[in-house]
Amino acid sequence: MVRPDPAEPSADGTGMSADPRVVCAALVDEVGPDAVVVDADVLDAYRRDRATAVEPGHPLALVRARATGEVQATVRVAARYGVPVVPRGLGTGLSGGSTAVDGCIVLSTERMRTLVVDPAALVATVGPGVVNAELKEAARAHGLWYPPDPSSFEICSIGGNLATNAGGLCCVKYGVTTDYVLGLEVVLADGRAVRLGGRTIKDVAGYDLKRLFVGSEGTLGVITEATLRLRPAPPPASTVVATFPTLVRAGEAVTGIVSTVRPAMLELMDRAALAAVELVKPMGLDLDTAALLLARSDAGRDEADRIGAACEAAGATYVAVTDDPDEGELLLGARRMAIPCVERLGTVLIEDVGVPVPRIPELLAAVEGVATRHDTAIPVIGHAGDGNFHPLVTFDAADPGATARAAAAFDEIMDLALSLGGTVTGEHGVGVLKAAHLRAQLGDDVWELTRRVKQAFDPDGILNPGKWV
Ligand SMILES: Cc1cc2nc3c(=O)[nH]c(=O)nc-3n(C[C@H](O)[C@H](O)[C@H](O)COP(=O)(O)OP(=O)(O)OC[C@H]3O[C@@H](n4cnc5c(N)ncnc54)[C@H](O)[C@@H]3O)c2cc1C
Repeated sequence: MVRPDPAEPSADGTGMSADPRVVCAALVDEVGPDAVVVDADVLDAYRRDRATAVEPGHPLALVRARATGEVQATVRVAARYGVPVVPRGLGTGLSGGSTAVDGCIVLSTERMRTLVVDPAALVATVGPGVVNAELKEAARAHGLWYPPDPSSFEICSIGGNLATNAGGLCCVKYGVTTDYVLGLEVVLADGRAVRLGGRTIKDVAGYDLKRLFVGSEGTLGVITEATLRLRPAPPPASTVVATFPTLVRAGEAVTGIVSTVRPAMLELMDRAALAAVELVKPMGLDLDTAALLLARSDAGRDEADRIGAACEAAGATYVAVTDDPDEGELLLGARRMAIPCVERLGTVLIEDVGVPVPRIPELLAAVEGVATRHDTAIPVIGHAGDGNFHPLVTFDAADPGATARAAAAFDEIMDLALSLGGTVTGEHGVGVLKAAHLRAQLGDDVWELTRRVKQAFDPDGILNPGKWV
């Protein structure tokens, strides 16, 4: 188990000695009694996210803010008493980012749910507690589309998406969360609220501070509102499915595809991931294959056929192209279910490594080697077209030997990604799980700059301490 330790990052200010009763009384006075929760059972439900290998601490209170003013009041109380604040969306994070630390205030933005679509400007103004799927639905009602689509889109919040710069399945063609952010309202560590950016498509006035907050995982401020770009709805898509005799061949197909066309989606599942899904929801997936690629094109049947041809050229054993949306959705459903299905097999350390596209076959071959060497099951899924993979290091947490082997495999895969010129996290964020590897990726000079940015925005270290900065 990995435990967030607030002591090191916030040694410069976080006073863990504040009397919890005094802090809670101040919260009730200044935020309002119906926003503050101290019930132990409720607090327990807000201690952790979906990184099950992270051991959470015990918060002193939960604040369920409804408006920016309540966020400001909460942060002011926290700043006065030197109490850590852990911003929280819907707790679906996979790296421990919203995991509680001892004595913190968990600040949930789940009740901040304003949602206004301006179809003429192609923008939406959104509270952080709006669920990604709700924004998509509201945009769809105007014939518009909000593209960022993490597999968790039905259960995660826009605030969490912004704070992790979430990716997803259509990023390969349509980009990630930051590509849709025009403006943010943010509450700073001293309780002031500021607006960054605005509603214009082009804006180069000053430093682009809003982008600093996108992906900052609650360590620089609390996002209380966002102005997001929408697009016209995409045309209907064709779906391509291809199976491969080896994982590496599937990787080679990916490099072949993205060097010639820009698919709207290009996802990979290996045999173990397919088997985990089939176990939970039998749908006749081919379990004799080593890997399956699932691609989509919304640029016409011709492009879909070219994707199929690239798969054949890489040695696919089976290729099918369909324009039937139901067939496409069925396979997409299998891909979206992969993480929860593998989680039923054991505790999972979820990797989120990214490599340059030409290095994908090397990464996939090396991950197979890591699994064998550490005698650990590592089903692989990924947003293959982005070079972003989730090797799912799966183990029995009751077995100390298996736990140690899984931890070694987890570390080795991140080192591997770095050695291939990649990153330790493509979309889930650093959180607690990848904190130790971040410094290796950034190097000393960039780490120092990173610390100075944190210092500038949060000099007393009260915002999400114990995570990566
Ligand atoms: C089955 C499954 C599939 C997933 N698939 C994907 C995927 O395809 N792509 C992807 O990118 N992610 C994926 N995720 C991960 C997760 O859903 C995303 O990271 C999501 O963006 C987290 O949103 P949340 O509302 O649950 O945030 P939380 O988990 O509550 O918080 C995430 C981080 O954001 C911070 N935060 C939350 N709200 C705010 C705020 N208002 N202001 C400042 N900081 C804030 C928290 O402190 C924390 O550091 C998946 C998760 C699951 C369980």
